[in-house]
Amino acid sequence: AAKRRGRSCHVVYSAGLRAAVTDISTARHDILGAIARDELICHYQAQFDARSLQIVGAEALVRWSCPDRGLLGPDKFLPQAAAAGLLHRIDRHVLTLVLEQQTRWHAEGVPYPPVAINTSAARLRDRDFVDSVLIQLEPHHDISFELLETAFLDKLEPCLAETLDRMRAAGLRVELDDFGSGHSSVAALQAVRPDRVKIDRSLVAPLRTRPEQALTLDALSRLARLEGAGVVVEGLESGMQLAAIRDIDCDALQGYILQRPLAADDFAAMLCQARRGVA
Ligand code: C2E
Ligand code: MG
Ligand code: MG
Ligand code: MG
Repeated sequence: AAKRRGRSCHVVYSAGLRAAVTDISTARHDILGAIARDELICHYQAQFDARSLQIVGAEALVRWSCPDRGLLGPDKFLPQAAAAGLLHRIDRHVLTLVLEQQTRWHAEGVPYPPVAINTSAARLRDRDFVDSVLIQLEPHHDISFELLETAFLDKLEPCLAETLDRMRAAGLRVELDDFGSGHSSVAALQAVRPDRVKIDRSLVAPLRTRPEQALTLDALSRLARLEGAGVVVEGLESGMQLAAIRDIDCDALQGYILQRPLAADDFAAMLCQARRGVA
């Protein structure tokens, strides 16, 4: 009986494993296809100066314009891409998309701001990461890299530390994303020494019901400043949150209440309109 049970377990296990392997190879095929067919696009979400509310930056957010399934957000395909070992391929492609976009905006006279690009630890581990960025950069490009604080859990892997040093030496700006959401924010801050941190929206959301949360955000922002980093607050959804963070010492603001992520053309139209408004 034991033998039979053992065998049937074995069968169930292999079937599950086979399904997982099939899923991964399907994901691999689909994602490589999406890149090859040029179906990945970036939406751009503006960042605003905390005092003047002028646009001072943007974040590029990848989407998959899938002929069968419509416009898919990152949550619908990045986990699969990560499982298939393709996250670094997506990040590489997104960088190229953003640089091409800035080149077009430059040619068209669109007053584009610096653009922050989300970059996975997998991409940072590409040995050619820094070189492949530098070789593509032209004077009209203006980008920075957002790295998840969770990529630097306890201490910095030597290869990531080396990459960060090379980025700094080359003048590439680094931002620590989702700051305050992980288990070792201070360690990550001190290891990465980012140019800016982005305070995670999970810490901004409680402002709705808990006004003292502003003090926590302020403390986090001071901590970042002590390490020489600028501060972006992300995930601002309501006028109440916007009012609550007015007393917090931060540089830039991002969130649906200010601007949703927009398709590139809509983003450019908005920039041109904003400039006309000022002029
Ligand atoms: P993130 O880098 O923290 O980006 C911010 C996410 O919050 C975006 O979701 C944005 O649309 C959303 N957001 C902005 N303002 C608000 C707000 O006021 N309220 C709420 N609830 N959400 C807001 P999105 O575009 O779905 O991206 C999700 C995550 O996917 C990103 O989180 C980032 O970690 C990842 N991601 C996006 N593009 C890329 C990429 O090119 N490469 C990599 N490796 N990851 C990416
Ligand atoms: Mg980000
Ligand atoms: Mg974030
Ligand atoms: Mg996030």
